[in-house]
Amino acid sequence: MKKNVKWAVIFGCVVLLCAGVIFFGQFSHGTTSAEIYVDGRLYKVIYDLGRQDLQSFRVETEHGYNVICYKSGKIWVSEADCANQTCVKYAKASLVGETIVCAPHKLVIKIVGTDYKKVDAVT
Ligand SMILES: [Zn+2]
Repeated sequence: MKKNVKWAVIFGCVVLLCAGVIFFGQFSHGTTSAEIYVDGRLYKVIYDLGRQDLQSFRVETEHGYNVICYKSGKIWVSEADCANQTCVKYAKASLVGETIVCAPHKLVIKIVGTDYKKVDAVT
């Protein structure tokens, strides 16, 4: 009986350790955020970039609009009424430091992470 309890404790520890690794892995994956600038000013910060369900919102600038979507750590412009449509054609951004720019609307989407902010604070 005592032997069984000992094994149960060991098994429990292993399960907890695995759960911890999975949790930590997801946590570290979810640290990226996105900053959206309009005309050089911070317009919005997205902290839940790692969400599994598709999110989208519309940014109204004085030059036009951009519809921004994000899901699973990726962000992109799905629709815009700018002349060149460059922002819509951009590849989905997901890595820290990546940017999506809509020059006609003076809109910038920048991926930031915890490490990136530390670097930024030093410089
Ligand atoms: Zn654009």
